[in-house]
Amino acid sequence: MKSLKERKPATFLGALFVLLATGFFFTSSAKINPGESGSLPLSAEDSISLMQMREEEKMARDVYLGLSELYGLNIFANISSSEQVHMDEVLRIIEANGLSDPASTERGVFRNREIQKLYDDLMEKGKKSLTDALLVGAAIEDVDIYDLQNFMARTKNKEIYAVFSFLNCGSRNHLRAFTFQLNRFGVNYIPVHISDEEYAAIINRRHEPCGALY
Ligand code: ZN
Ligand code: ZN
Repeated sequence: MKSLKERKPATFLGALFVLLATGFFFTSSAKINPGESGSLPLSAEDSISLMQMREEEKMARDVYLGLSELYGLNIFANISSSEQVHMDEVLRIIEANGLSDPASTERGVFRNREIQKLYDDLMEKGKKSLTDALLVGAAIEDVDIYDLQNFMARTKNKEIYAVFSFLNCGSRNHLRAFTFQLNRFGVNYIPVHISDEEYAAIINRRHEPCGALY
């Protein structure tokens, strides 16, 4: 790389160009909103992933609450409270970075249209029968794991990575639990988002202790 001396500008515009090119005018951007724990500022993509995961975890919680009321099976109530913990973890990072929470306080209401449609479709299916409801559970965890893994592969933010990794651990446990219940009814879940190999690797492992993050 050339040193500044070698790029000595002959004109005012040249000087301006060198200052711009060397980032002179942008040094203040490093001070923007470092977050409570001194982590890197969030990229636009990080913010989008947090918004999406906050509502995706709410979608899971709301569906499981609805299915719990319909069927009274413990698995739905237990996993819905785990989804509340996941929602809280994402909210903690959203708030630490001064972003506003996209999640409605109303059950079944979402800002993200795709998540709203997913919620509506899954509730519709889940109402049909208990095995349909358990298949809905597996489908939610399938989407969740797929999205979390994609976001984890792309973020450079350690805090987001750690929280998404914690959520992913929980999702694998949930997927195992729904699969176990489905197998009792002689029903197999066929993954739609994660690969067959990934699904097999998950269900062949034991329950994982995900631990408390902080
Ligand atoms: Zn979750
Ligand atoms: Zn889950």
